[in-house]
Amino acid sequence: MTKTFSIAVFHGDGIGPEIMAPTLEILQRMSDASTAYALRFEDAPAGAAHYARTGESLPETSMETARNADAILLSAMGLPDVRYADGTEISPQIDLRKALKLFAGVRPVRVKAGQKGPLTLPPGREIDFVLIRESTEGLFHTQGRGEVSENEARETLLVTREVSEKLFAFAFALARTRKETGRGPGRVTCVDKANVFRAFAFFRKLFDAEASRHPDLAADHVYVDATALWMVQKPWDFDVLVTENMFGDILSDLGAGLMGGLGLAPSADIGLEHAVFQPCHGSAPDIAGQGLANPLAMILSGAMMLDWLGIKHDIPAMTRDGTRLREAVEDVVARGDATTRDIGGTASTDTAARAVLDTMFVA
Ligand code: NAD
Repeated sequence: MTKTFSIAVFHGDGIGPEIMAPTLEILQRMSDASTAYALRFEDAPAGAAHYARTGESLPETSMETARNADAILLSAMGLPDVRYADGTEISPQIDLRKALKLFAGVRPVRVKAGQKGPLTLPPGREIDFVLIRESTEGLFHTQGRGEVSENEARETLLVTREVSEKLFAFAFALARTRKETGRGPGRVTCVDKANVFRAFAFFRKLFDAEASRHPDLAADHVYVDATALWMVQKPWDFDVLVTENMFGDILSDLGAGLMGGLGLAPSADIGLEHAVFQPCHGSAPDIAGQGLANPLAMILSGAMMLDWLGIKHDIPAMTRDGTRLREAVEDVVARGDATTRDIGGTASTDTAARAVLDTMFVA
């Protein structure tokens, strides 16, 4: 029997709508071709341009659409020139993370053997790890509420038992799934700064407690500075990494750099009930409206959504479609004849997206 999923769609700002449109077209084609699932898309207006027009950045009706949806697709949001009165930017993607308690920011980093990238991989090596960034607390805890006086500024880092326990349980479950599907050895690495900060010693203690519940999986710790070094020197050694919000924010851009750029970096923000799938990059106002945006990170985020829904609702055909879509993107990147300027090609947004569609439905 076909199960229908409602997907809330945030088209975003800048290049957002340009990369969302071909992603929806591909997902619609996959849905039409499937007998196991169907996708129904519902627009959720929000973002910086919406704020400039209406005075609201994330209307309650859009929040409701997101809350009622089975999954949420979000393109990049924000425009540097559109700001609240306190000088900060409009960022509904962060508001959604908090409102829907999306504690796990999942950032896969994948470079296949032979794929061009900034690193020359040793023969036979490939990069395939997942960085999990806690996304609701850490150093983002006082976001928008930091204390600033004439001579001092303060922000507070928060690590709670409640969120950390859910985060680590999620990380070990992901490592197990990866091990069972042949994607990784089944190892979780806690990335912290427990040698200096008591909050991170606490974070590590909670990690160790969760690790002791998974004797079949390996667990280790690396300080965040060494992690940055090893992500460049031996990234193939990592499987699942789990870390605090700000560390994860920084390391996930390093991960995107390993793949050749933000245009190839997908992500998911996952909670116990809801999940948002979006590219790691921003709205790229410098190239908006020119047909230059790389749609592949957005399309890969769509693949992650199919994967997550398939596992959550036990629909193997949907998970297989997630893999098929990811592999089609990897084929297009490997061929290199339909890639956009940011990753060394000359193709337009539409040509790159069309190449993915053709790989799936014509090849
Ligand atoms: P950005 O990611 O938008 O752009 C950084 C650089 O990468 C730019 O040169 C841009 O042209 C390029 N780039 C990004 N995505 C690309 C793509 N798909 N294809 C080709 N090139 C791409 O970061 P920024 O310039 O710091 O931020 C621009 C706006 O986006 C800001 O308003 C910022 O707040 C917002 N932002 C939103 C998110 C989000 O929605 N999750 C994330 C980061 C930044």
